[in-house]
Amino acid sequence: MTIKAYGAHAADKPLESLDITRRAPGVHDVQIQIAYCGVCHSDLHQVRAEWAGTLYPCVPGHEIVGRVTAVGAHVSRYQAGDLVGVGCIVDSCRHCADCDDGLENYCDHMVGTYNGSTADTPGHTLGGYSQQIVVHERYVLRIRHPESQLAAAAPLLCAGITTYSPLRHWNVGPGHKVGVVGIGGLGHMGIKLAHAMGAHVVAFTTSESKRDAARALGADEVVVSRDEDQMAAHAQSLDFILNTVAAPHDLNPFFALLKRDGTMTLVGAPATPHAPPDVFNLIMKRRSLAGSMIGGIPETQEMLDFCAEHGIVADIEMIRADQINGAYERMLKGDVKYRFVMDCASLAV
Ligand code: NAP
Ligand code: ZN
Ligand code: ZN
Repeated sequence: MTIKAYGAHAADKPLESLDITRRAPGVHDVQIQIAYCGVCHSDLHQVRAEWAGTLYPCVPGHEIVGRVTAVGAHVSRYQAGDLVGVGCIVDSCRHCADCDDGLENYCDHMVGTYNGSTADTPGHTLGGYSQQIVVHERYVLRIRHPESQLAAAAPLLCAGITTYSPLRHWNVGPGHKVGVVGIGGLGHMGIKLAHAMGAHVVAFTTSESKRDAARALGADEVVVSRDEDQMAAHAQSLDFILNTVAAPHDLNPFFALLKRDGTMTLVGAPATPHAPPDVFNLIMKRRSLAGSMIGGIPETQEMLDFCAEHGIVADIEMIRADQINGAYERMLKGDVKYRFVMDCASLAV
C-alpha cells in the first residue's frame, strides 16, 4: 500500500512529503494507523547522518502511537481498534540470549524502526513520520492510557523506556538521590519517572530558564551545571546520575557529585565523543561509568503500564508534519518543553 510520509533524500536536504509503501500484513503482523509520532533527537542525528550509515530516503520516527486497523491470521494479542504503540524496535533474531531475556534492544540483529535492515521496499525500514506501519506483533505494545492522552503517551515509546530502563536496572527508588542531566525529551521523562519511583531527584541543566519548569516535573532540586558553587553543593552526594545530554561535554564535574560506588549512566548519543574522563575521578571513590540503550519489549510494556497507573505522560508541543524542519532547529537550541509530537493526520493534507 502506498502512503504519505515525511523524510529526507540526503543528509543536507530538509525533510519533505514522500510517498512510501508498506507491506500487506503477514500472518503475525499488526497494521497500525499512526495517530501521532514523537520527535526524538536520535531522529535528527540519523536523518542528518550525524551517526554512521544513514540510508536514504530516511523517514525517522520511533515514538509511534495509533490504532490497529488489521491483523494477520495468527495474531493473538491485538485486534482491530486497539490503541497500540511501536518504539525503536520492529524486529530481532528472536532466539539469541538477549532475545530470550526480553532484551531485544541488545540483540545483534535488532532491526530499528528506521534505518534497519528489511526485505520490504526500499530495503531499509522507514519510521513513524508516516500514516501507517506494519509490525510483527512481538514488537507492538499496548497503550492503556486514555485516548485523550494518546499524543502525550507517544514519547514514552523512546524517551520513556530509555530513561525507565536504566533507572530500574540501577535500582533507583526511595532513599536514593538521583541526578538527571539535560532537561530535554529524555531528561524530562527521567525526572518524572525517578520521582514516581520515590527517589530524591536533582535536575542538572545548562538553561536557567528551565529551573521552575523542572521543579514542576518532579525535581526536588535544580542545579545550573555551569555554576561551580551550585555543583559543589552536591559533591559526593548522588547515588546515580542519568546523563541524557545530546552533545559532547566534560563529564568530570559530574563524577565529583557521585558518592562512593556511584554510577553515571550515559544515554545521550552525541555525534562526536565526550573527552575521556579523568581516571582518578573513577578510581578515588570506586565510581562507575556506564551506558544504556532504550529497553526490551517486555520492559517497554512494563514502563507503559507503570506510566498509565501513575498518570505519567510527556509534556508535549504538537506540530504538523510540515513544521518538522523548524522543530529540529528549535530542538538544537533546547527550545522545546519538552517533546515535539507530530500529528500524523497532517500528512494527509
Ligand atoms: P533533546 O530533547 O534535544 O535534549 C537534550 C538536552 O541536552 C537539551 O535539552 C539540553 O538540556 C542538553 N544539551 C544539549 N546540548 C547541550 C550542550 N552542548 N551542553 C550541555 N547540555 C546540552 O534530546 P533527546 O531527544 O532527549 O535525546 C538526548 C540524547 O539521547 C540524544 O543524543 C539522543 O540521540 C540520545 N538517545 C539515546 C537513546 C539510547 O537508547 N541511549 C535513546 C534515545 C535518544 P538543558 O537545556 O537542560 O541543558
Ligand atoms: Zn529515540
Ligand atoms: Zn536476538
